Amino acid sequence: MATHNLLLLPGDGIGPEVMAEVKRVIDFFSKKGPDKFSTEEALVGGCCYDAHKVAITDATMDKAKAADAIIFGAVGGPKWDKVPYDVRPEAGLLRLRKDLALFANIRPAIVYPALADSSSLKRDVVEGLDIIILRELTGGVYFGEPKTITDLGNGQKRGIDTQVYDTFEIDRIARVAFDLARTRRKKVASAEKRNVMKTGVLWNEVVTRVHQESYKDVALEHVLADNCAMQLVRWPKQYDVLVTDNLFGDVLSDIAAMLTGSLGMLPSASLGAIDSKTKLRKALYEPVHGSAPDIAGKGLANPIAMIASFGMALRYSFGLGEWADKIDQAIASVLAKGLRTKDIAQGTEKTIGTTDMGAAILGELKAAA
Ligand code: NAD
Repeated sequence: MATHNLLLLPGDGIGPEVMAEVKRVIDFFSKKGPDKFSTEEALVGGCCYDAHKVAITDATMDKAKAADAIIFGAVGGPKWDKVPYDVRPEAGLLRLRKDLALFANIRPAIVYPALADSSSLKRDVVEGLDIIILRELTGGVYFGEPKTITDLGNGQKRGIDTQVYDTFEIDRIARVAFDLARTRRKKVASAEKRNVMKTGVLWNEVVTRVHQESYKDVALEHVLADNCAMQLVRWPKQYDVLVTDNLFGDVLSDIAAMLTGSLGMLPSASLGAIDSKTKLRKALYEPVHGSAPDIAGKGLANPIAMIASFGMALRYSFGLGEWADKIDQAIASVLAKGLRTKDIAQGTEKTIGTTDMGAAILGELKAAA
């Protein structure tokens, strides 16, 4: 039986609360098989700043590099709003993404039938939605140089960010998109702004070439990113895998998130390149939501995004897609039975807390095992 090493980084706010529910699921899988998991836990974010004056320590970075996958909760909160920029809680997450070169951010947007009314869009527009937004995560305008604010000396300042992409960065994210699409409905839409941006022209050219060279069995469509934003709210089901750069991905994935109704439902994965020797890829799995300081410590957090993030680890890091499906089915069944945390409840629906929702999902998993 294979043993996979997981580094658990619960973080701040509701991070530890939702991570506690994942730990129960991990224990269950370890006992039941097919594979075992060994876990180690470390500090990240504000709690790490309190203990070590940095958002993540070098020792934790070493553990992250050695782990088979990282399961991350959430970081941040008002307590750390005034800490120096370089050691703010989010710096821990950014360092993990950068040092592990996690260039591919996979965000599924799934609308469970039982929750179709939680979306701000009409039921028929979102019911049964199951799409993936694939965002390039380590390049583009968030990292390009120069990145400066210059005093022009005439009472004006100039802010500069630089959007920059090299061929290899577009090539590798395109391959992730086509590979993902092959496991799904074999459709990729690539979003850029080739009409006004040189990086958009190159993006379009490289995605087209990768498609022609290696993935002709997958349907490819190019869409302008602004039009894509409109299409996502008009008829999101037209997409399957939607690949885009860091900036547009940031925005489009948040639009897709809102189609589903609640932040507490959304998992994500950030993947690096496949190591040619071990054939494994560095990977970090985390809910899309933040540390939710407004509900932290109250036992109200929805653990579904966190549990579904572990499901993504089973699927994308350990080849245990069948078990990931079981997690998704367990989530669907507790929702179909009417169980709701506060964030996904409608009107006067009765609600349950974090541990009860975690226990209910675990109960469904046990019943299905
Ligand atoms: P947030 O995602 O923490 O919360 C937004 C709203 O959604 C809040 O009302 C919150 O109660 C609710 N919510 C979020 N997750 C929930 C869950 N699992 N169950 C029930 N309700 C949930 O975003 P925010 O309020 O903008 O940010 C709060 C802090 O989190 C900030 O310090 C921010 O920097 C940080 N943050 C961290 C991450 C991360 O760690 N990846 C991501 C986003 C924000």
